[in-house]
Amino acid sequence: MANTPYPQSYYAASANPVPPRPALQEEVQTDVCVIGAGYTGLSSALFLLEAGFSVTVLEAAKVGFGASGRNGGQIVNSYSRDIDVIERTVGPKQAQLLGQMAFEGGRIIRERVAKYNIQCDLKDGGVFAALTAKQMGHLESQKRLWERFGHTQLELMDQKRIREVVDCDQYLGGMLDMSGGHIHPLNLALGEAAAVESLGGKIYEQSPAVRIERGANPVVHTPQGKVRAKFVIVAGNAYLGGLVPELAAKSMPCGTQVITTEPLGEELARSLLPQDYCVEDCNYLLDYYRLTGDKRLIFGGGVVYGARDPANIEAIIRPKMLKAFPQLKDVKIDYAWTGNFLLTLSRLPQVGRLGDNIYYSQGCSGHGVTYTHLAGKVLAEALRGQAERFDAFAELPHYPFPGGQMLRVPFSAIGAWYYSLRDRLGF
Ligand SMILES: Cc1cc2nc3c(=O)[nH]c(=O)nc-3n(C[C@H](O)[C@H](O)[C@H](O)COP(=O)(O)OP(=O)(O)OC[C@H]3O[C@@H](n4cnc5c(N)ncnc54)[C@H](O)[C@@H]3O)c2cc1C
Repeated sequence: MANTPYPQSYYAASANPVPPRPALQEEVQTDVCVIGAGYTGLSSALFLLEAGFSVTVLEAAKVGFGASGRNGGQIVNSYSRDIDVIERTVGPKQAQLLGQMAFEGGRIIRERVAKYNIQCDLKDGGVFAALTAKQMGHLESQKRLWERFGHTQLELMDQKRIREVVDCDQYLGGMLDMSGGHIHPLNLALGEAAAVESLGGKIYEQSPAVRIERGANPVVHTPQGKVRAKFVIVAGNAYLGGLVPELAAKSMPCGTQVITTEPLGEELARSLLPQDYCVEDCNYLLDYYRLTGDKRLIFGGGVVYGARDPANIEAIIRPKMLKAFPQLKDVKIDYAWTGNFLLTLSRLPQVGRLGDNIYYSQGCSGHGVTYTHLAGKVLAEALRGQAERFDAFAELPHYPFPGGQMLRVPFSAIGAWYYSLRDRLGF
């Protein structure tokens, strides 16, 4: 049987120790079968177990193998499109409900970390950095918008103030969100998996769902076993492949790359990011970075449409890092890896039901650390019969990619080129 290991990332190299988990080799019965042990699957499982359901999680590789164990670790509030765009798309009533939920994911993460004592280097404070006057104007309106929905831990920063939190001379200003922050993402996923098991949930690794038999009592098949369930939650996101053709048709996996330096030492690390906040810039194709617990710089950026793995990740990302921090020119890169997130045309998540008993959430299009934790809660509510918040997401429009699966990659790349050109020209 295939044994898929973690990619060679800094996170895998610094993961907390975990017990081996078996592959499914029998037939089991459960209330809910969750497909995928990333944040969406684990958060759903945890909320459902807390509500008294029995839960079986099937993971094709290992817990946190996908984006949840490879990401930049940035706790970014709200969605990949902001609430004003949602308001224009679906009207004020639904936007109000979605706006109220926009800051809940970060709170869920902090509650999980505290309740289950998860060791994942949680730090408070995230910075959005503006490279142009237009981006600064956007941050000012974003602050007003977020405050309308009760989110108040925000500070606008001018050019002088932002230099106090990040030693980079590219920025005209920024916004600090003290309810943002950062985590070791794989250790968060591993801690959540341990919490699932502490409540009696079962997690099978190296156990891909290869077929879902739909109907009143769905059955999920793996190469050597099957799970009979009352409900199924599909949480495979960018790694799902063609298991559920309806979901593949309206989304596109995209790769983004991350590098990690050698340990910088206290002094150099503190000179770059004195308060240890994480930073992302406001470009359409954005750069994001932060320090790790052992004072390395993790730097990510770039997008590969269609999720082909680039041959030399360091060659793509190191120049971006040196543009922000030329003082790191002699620093060695210890790790470089790629991971896939799932893009939707609207850049809003796709949430819904297939038939009566198969639920899904996918496609948060880049910013997913907080949303996926909220999604787990909202999916669990829906399975318990409280679907108001689920419906608010499910009613967001889902669009197929223009050009279908053949042409979605070149079409999206042209779109991204256009937006990044606008960023570079400052309009
Ligand atoms: C490199 C990178 C950096 C990022 N940085 C940030 C960031 O800093 N902040 C932020 O907010 N967001 C970030 N994101 C996005 C964020 O990580 C994702 O949105 C989020 O982790 C998605 O979680 P998920 O559980 O939906 O999917 P995933 O974490 O991808 O989990 C899906 C899981 O399902 C499994 N699976 C798939 N198919 C099957 C099957 N048939 N059977 C069983 N299991 C299956 C996969 O193996 C995988 O483990 C980043 C993404 C990437 C790739």
